[in-house]
Amino acid sequence: MIIKCPYCGPRDVIEFIYQGDATRTRPEPASDDRAAWNAYVYDRTNPSGSHSEYWLHSGGCRQHLLVTRDVSTHAISSVVFARDAAVSAKSGELA
Ligand SMILES: [Zn+2]
Repeated sequence: MIIKCPYCGPRDVIEFIYQGDATRTRPEPASDDRAAWNAYVYDRTNPSGSHSEYWLHSGGCRQHLLVTRDVSTHAISSVVFARDAAVSAKSGELA
């Protein structure tokens, strides 16, 4: 699988480390809602089709990336810096 890093260009997946599902929402740190924390820590889905994931380019620029990948075909439709996606999400834009 080839991931096109926005900084380094197309690179083999061996240079990257999967960092997890990018669709989960972490509860507020001060929250004592045990059900929400339990769901955040332990509940996982097994999606089919397009999925948003975090990847770390550990063998390159060491940037965290937000990758949209079809988990059935491994076709990647989008790669952006995770920090840019977070800023866009905070400002109300969809990443
Ligand atoms: Zn890179």
